[in-house]
This record gives sequence, structure tokens and C-alpha cells, in this order.
Amino acid sequence: DTIGENLDRTVHRFPDRDALVDLAAGRRWTYAELAADVDALALGLLALGIAKGDRVGIWAPNRAEWTLVQYATAKIGAVLVTVNPAYRSHELEYVLRQSGIRLLAAADRFKSSDYAAMIEEVRPRCPDLEFVALLEGPLWNSLLERGREGDPADLARAQAALSPDDAVNIQYTSGTTGFPKGATLSHHNILNNGFFVGELCHYTEQDRVCIPVPFYHCFGMVMGNLACTSHGAAMVIPAPSFDPAATLAAVESERCTSLYGVPTMFIAELAEPGFDAYDLSSLRTGIMAGSPCPVEVMREVIERMGMTEVSICYGMTETSPVSTQTRADDSVERRVSTVGRVGPHLEVKVVDPGTGRTVPRGEPGELCTRGYSVMLGYWEEPERTAEAVDAARWMHTGDLAVMDEDGYLSITGRIKDMVIRGGENLYPREIEEFLHTHPDVLDVQVIGVPDAKYGEELMAWVRMRDGAEPLTPDTVRAYCAGRLAHFKIPRYVHVVEEFPMTVTGKVRKVEMRQEALRLLE
Ligand code: ATP
Ligand code: MG
Repeated sequence: DTIGENLDRTVHRFPDRDALVDLAAGRRWTYAELAADVDALALGLLALGIAKGDRVGIWAPNRAEWTLVQYATAKIGAVLVTVNPAYRSHELEYVLRQSGIRLLAAADRFKSSDYAAMIEEVRPRCPDLEFVALLEGPLWNSLLERGREGDPADLARAQAALSPDDAVNIQYTSGTTGFPKGATLSHHNILNNGFFVGELCHYTEQDRVCIPVPFYHCFGMVMGNLACTSHGAAMVIPAPSFDPAATLAAVESERCTSLYGVPTMFIAELAEPGFDAYDLSSLRTGIMAGSPCPVEVMREVIERMGMTEVSICYGMTETSPVSTQTRADDSVERRVSTVGRVGPHLEVKVVDPGTGRTVPRGEPGELCTRGYSVMLGYWEEPERTAEAVDAARWMHTGDLAVMDEDGYLSITGRIKDMVIRGGENLYPREIEEFLHTHPDVLDVQVIGVPDAKYGEELMAWVRMRDGAEPLTPDTVRAYCAGRLAHFKIPRYVHVVEEFPMTVTGKVRKVEMRQEALRLLE
């Protein structure tokens, strides 16, 4: 199926079930209503001359129109380019030019960001950009109006010309380790991935999934939207951007059965004042993913949020995204401490990054994945594609992993984050897990900093719980002594209110390392 065909199938099966709820806008759509708006927008785009293969950008925080654009473009085979809502004019220009966007659908502003002004600023330097449709502005409204009067046969013809292997998406990576790369993904890539994620979460049309993670990223649009629409579940948007209180309130008021988040989002929800007053009893499952999921936080999600079937997913934008996932029938121990086993119809291996040889079970190496989910390539960057995807179509993830005897994987960190201290390979992840057990620690990140004697030394960045005494190198040493090998004990401790983050909620260790250099000067 293409994404459009798959949506049509679900609409046919469950026309009257809730499809989409936008709480900030106070609006909701059944599947029949969603189909009517998606088809109108698709016909409107066709009438404007947007055709298969054209790039259409979407630049907005989470809101219902985002989802309409996602499905309308998929229906006509346009390639949706998802633009990070945190971008400013410089980055916007890069994306518009790099992917050759012809029509940009955008919010006119969000918080302090004046999107409309930034678009006008860069427009003269973006020759491919013909149309700008500000959401709910005149062009947007006329697209829908014209589309409502359009001929459904035109849409059927456009859909019939598509293949599941066509590109449907350019999604930029989070930019955690450097400049974001545009992964080009097909219907086949992301529809299957969304479907299998939903399958392993046991979604049916009874499910209501709370999606506070950004749509512009695959976590929101694939594991969220596509997982829902391929199983007839409802997509619930709690707020335009992450807000812990709004998320908890949405779960309560919409009786959500599933909740998504990166670890930092769950940490914020669990620490939200008045947490205990929310009725979260409808929650059955959910997904934590995107960065290392601390065992302590997973346990709290199960015990205090009642998400008894919660699963951890591991993946990356380049693989649509999910490669491994824990399942409801795995032991709790495995569901809190591993990223599960390989997903359906995929392969994984762990190799020595130097030789490319598969390492024995239990030993760390670079995780590689292969199968239907591997991207078509980075958009117009064949060299970078060849660096990431080898001739046998293995995606080299840049992540370090260990596979146990039963095939369960643990992610031990990113190759780029590994610290080498006095010849010893140190995995920040392991030390972060240990420091998470300290009762006063809300969240912790460990990085390597240059050191004249050992090459590198460890520095822990710590967020303290409300009212707790800030940790110092001495108190950290005392806590670790006897429980952690001496060379794994961080030499430096830096207490902060917040970590530098990407919009997808990931900690930017690159920025922390730069800041650390200034601190140590
Ligand atoms: P960039 O590639 O631009 O530096 P990024 O890798 O963070 O950014 P994404 O594609 O959004 O961009 O994220 C994929 C990465 O997130 C993985 O390579 C891995 O490092 C990390 N990740 C995802 N899920 C997990 C998980 N469950 N546990 C640990 N790490 C995870
Ligand atoms: Mg990456």
C-alpha cells in the first residue's frame, strides 16, 4: 500500500471512530471527517499544480493541520519535507534550498518566532519556492475550498500513479551530533514501520494515543500518526509543543490508552507538581525512545503512571525510525533495561567498527541494521549516504550496542560520545545510569573533557531535585566509592537547571562539551 491507500482502508473500516483531536484548537475529526479534509487538501494541491515528486514543506508546531498536510501530500505523491519548528531564517533557507521546496505550508507565528517574516526574508534567495500557504491564511483556505469542489476522479488518478517505493518524505535528523541530514524515506519505509510499531503496542480502533513528541520528527509522524491511522486508533495532540501539565491533562480528559515521550518528557511529567491528582488510569501502554531510557525512569513510568505495557523503541530517522522494540510479554527487567529485540522483517548485527566483523554476543560494537526500513538515501548527498549505508544495504548507526544470548540489545552510547580515559574505554551511559540512583538527582549527563594527563576526564552535569543540596565532586566521589571503579568516577561535577536540548528533546552533548571547555579555562 501507499500511505493514501492505507488511510482509505482505515477510513472505510472505522468511519465514525475518532481519528484526530487537537486540544489547543478545541477541534476533533472522525476518520470520515479526516478523509474529507485530507482529500480536499490533496485536490486543492493538485489544482494548484503540485504533482508527484514535488517537495512540499511543513513548518509548524504540532497541530491538526500538520497531520492534514502529511496525508494530503502522501495521497498525491508529493514529498513532504518536515521543517524543525525551532529553526530560524538561516536554517530555514538551508532546508528550502537543499530540498528544493515548491510549496511551504507554515504557521504564521509560534511563541516569539515570526515564521511569516522569516519566510519573506529568505524568499528572494529560494528560487524553487513558488507558494507559501500560511495555515488558515487565504491560500490555505482557498486550497481547501477549491479542493472541496474538485473531482474525486482526479485524486484517484493521481493515487493510481504512485508506487510504495516512491519517496514520500524528507526528514532531517535531530542534529544531536552535528548538522541535520535529510533522510529520504518511501511509503514502504515509513508505513510499514508505523504499522509494526502499532502492532507491537497491540493498537486497535479502541486506542487513543497521546502524542506530545514533535510531528516534524519520525517519532511523532511515524510512530505516532502512521501507527494510529494504520490501526484505526485516535491521535491526540495535547499542545503545540511539549508541556508536561497539558500532556497529563490530555491523558486524563481524552482517556488516552498510550503516551509517548523521550526520557526527559517523562522525567518532567513525573516531577510535575500535582502529578498525583491526575487520573491516568486509562493508560495501558506507551513508548519511550529517542535517547537512553534510564531504568529508574522506566520503573516509575510503569509504577506511577500505570503504563504496564510501556515499551522502549530504538531507532533513527534514517531507518524510518524503529529497529528494535521491547514487547509487552518481555520480562519487566528486560523492558526497563534493554531496547528489546529486532523488529519484524528486519535484521541487526553488532560489528567491530574497525574491522566490520561481527563481535561475539555480550561484547560491545557498532550496531548495524538492514531491511525494509533503511532510507532511500540522504537527499542529494550520495557521498554521505555511502558513508552510512554500505553496499550490502546495512545502515551503520554510529551507536554502540551489546546483544545478549537471546537477542536483546542494550545501547551503550554513541561512538562519538565514548570517552577514552588513560586508554580505558568509558561509556557515559553506564555512569549516568548509576548516578540516576542518587536520590537527589533529577537527571544527569556525563561527557568527556580533554585532560593533559589521561587524554580525557569525565564531567557529570547534574540537575538536582527541588530543594536538594547541589552535588560536588566530593559528594559524588563518596557516593560512587566502592560501587564504581575509580576511573569511572567523574572528576568534575557541574550542577545546572537545564541541559542544552534539541527540539526532539535530546541532550546536545556537543554543546555541553563546548561549554565544558569554557568552564575549565
Ligand atoms: P544527528 O544524526 O543529526 O546527530 P540524531 O542521531 O539524534 O541526530 P535521530 O535520528 O533523531 O537524530 O536520533 C537517532 C539516535 O537517537 C540514534 O542513533 C541513537 O543514538 C538515539 N536513540 C534513539 N532511540 C534510543 C534508545 N532507545 N536508546 C538509546 N539511544 C537512542
Ligand atoms: Mg543520527
